[in-house]
Amino acid sequence: MPERADLERSATELLQRLIRFKTVNPPGDEQAAQELLKELLEGVGFECELLAAVEGRPNLVARMRSASDGPRLCLLGHVDTVLADPDEWSVDPWSGELRDGCVWGRGALDMKSQVASETAAALAIAGEGWRPEAGELILVFTCDEETGAAYGAQWLCEQHPDKVRCDLVVNEGAGTVLDFDGRRVYGVCVAEKGVFRFTLTTRGKAGHASVPRIADNALVKMAPVLEALADGRPAYALSPEPEAFLRALGLDPGDLEGAVQGIAEKDGRVAILVEPMLGVTLTPTMISASEKVNVIPSRAELAIDCRVPPELGEEAVLSALRELIGEDGYEVRFHDRIVGNRSPADTPLMEKISAFVRREDPGAEAVPVVLPGFSDSHWWRRAFPDCLAYGFFPQRAMDLFEAFPLIHGADERVPIEDLGLAASFYAELMEEVLR
Ligand SMILES: [Zn+2]
Repeated sequence: MPERADLERSATELLQRLIRFKTVNPPGDEQAAQELLKELLEGVGFECELLAAVEGRPNLVARMRSASDGPRLCLLGHVDTVLADPDEWSVDPWSGELRDGCVWGRGALDMKSQVASETAAALAIAGEGWRPEAGELILVFTCDEETGAAYGAQWLCEQHPDKVRCDLVVNEGAGTVLDFDGRRVYGVCVAEKGVFRFTLTTRGKAGHASVPRIADNALVKMAPVLEALADGRPAYALSPEPEAFLRALGLDPGDLEGAVQGIAEKDGRVAILVEPMLGVTLTPTMISASEKVNVIPSRAELAIDCRVPPELGEEAVLSALRELIGEDGYEVRFHDRIVGNRSPADTPLMEKISAFVRREDPGAEAVPVVLPGFSDSHWWRRAFPDCLAYGFFPQRAMDLFEAFPLIHGADERVPIEDLGLAASFYAELMEEVLR
């Protein structure tokens, strides 16, 4: 096994270089970053291919085969990022600056850090002459994750299934330590919620704004809707991931209201993170009505970002709406209908992750979680029903409360110690799985 210090150094240097490629999506512009990764991986014996749906935005597939049958292990990552406003940052977001033991820059957590750690691990062990004894190692770095993966993971899995088919995927989604009530838990993302964004429309009758009661103002009808969404939420519902998670925190999943209240009393921050695991969430984000200030609108539209527990569909959204605002007085038009999916949590891969966590952080535990957001793991589970996809990037030096606000936020950074920790995990995993 490569030394931790060497892995840390190499992952740090690579992350700095990756951050300096501005891969803000849109437009993404991932070509140069992907070419660097390709060149590095080819240098230690990987067969590499750049596969692009559109010019200048390739996905990288790097492969190392063995002579015998065995599991195909895919380490996954995306190289695009969201935007950054330099005025809000203390450093240049594309500097990759090293400060206070951290690498700073857009993508330092989401997720050039993991791409760098996975690559550093592969470069180190393959550079020492290691080759899989069985199965196959595949590194896949996608473009276009941040705007929905139409040119990235979705396209790859649908258009080139033979190039990316695998049995195990390790991707982003969880792994940062959470301290709660004397317990330390590391999430392993085994599922993502579905995405059901929609527009809610209210209708009335147009008229001159100088005589308010002459018309029927559709915008005003949004007030009770907004209030209900702000004050209420659908009743909590249990599913396998929150059940395991609540148990790991020492709480009773049989009483969800009580469990969340118990969490809130000890640490309100944890309650905020746990709640979305327990059902449909409805977040109003955009509103529009009249196009003229002196015209009472006959129609108002509210855009709602809605996330639904894995394997549930549109009916779960409509039922949540009925619960909160009744059935009448509005219409719903869906823009996205992506049903979330999950992998089983009780597997040898989970065992390996647990063993790593227990060894690195005695007393701590690895716990399956469902991601309120979305990730590329979805496309692998959907295209290859037997494929097990987990999100795990272990972080111990920076905890969840520090990391979470930095993702897509200002001053995104990652401790170099965590880059070394993660790279060690990936190196170990490759050796253990592919033997
Ligand atoms: Zn990401």
